[in-house]
Amino acid sequence: MEYNEEVEVDQNESASDEQDVQIQDTDIVFDCPHCGHNLCIDYRGAGLQITCSECEEPVLVPIPDGMKISDLDLDAGELLKQLFATRRLLQRAEARAEALSMKLDSFAAKVGELQEMLQA
Ligand SMILES: [Zn+2]
Repeated sequence: MEYNEEVEVDQNESASDEQDVQIQDTDIVFDCPHCGHNLCIDYRGAGLQITCSECEEPVLVPIPDGMKISDLDLDAGELLKQLFATRRLLQRAEARAEALSMKLDSFAAKVGELQEMLQA
C-alpha cells in the first residue's frame, strides 16, 4: 500500500496534465475499476454513474465513507471540507497503522526465530 502523501502528489500532477483542473478538497478521487485510471469528480457526483475518461466504461462514483447522499442536499461546504480533511487524516493514520502493523509482524517473526535459536 502506498502512502497517501505520495498518491496525492501524483493525482495533482496527472490532473493538471490532462485538463488543468485543480483538485478541490471536496472532490472525490478514486480509481476506475475497469482500467485503474485515476478519476476525480466533484463531491456532488457521489453515487452517480459517469463514463471513465480513459476506457469509456460506465463507472459508479463511490460515496465517501461517512457521507450520505442526503448530505448532498445540504449546502454545508465548510462542514464538508472538514469532513474530507478528517477522512484524509484518517486514511493517513490507517496507512501508518498498517505499516506499523507489518513492522510488528516482522519483529514478531524475528523474536520467534531468536527463541528457536535459544532453545536449540
Ligand atoms: Zn477506465
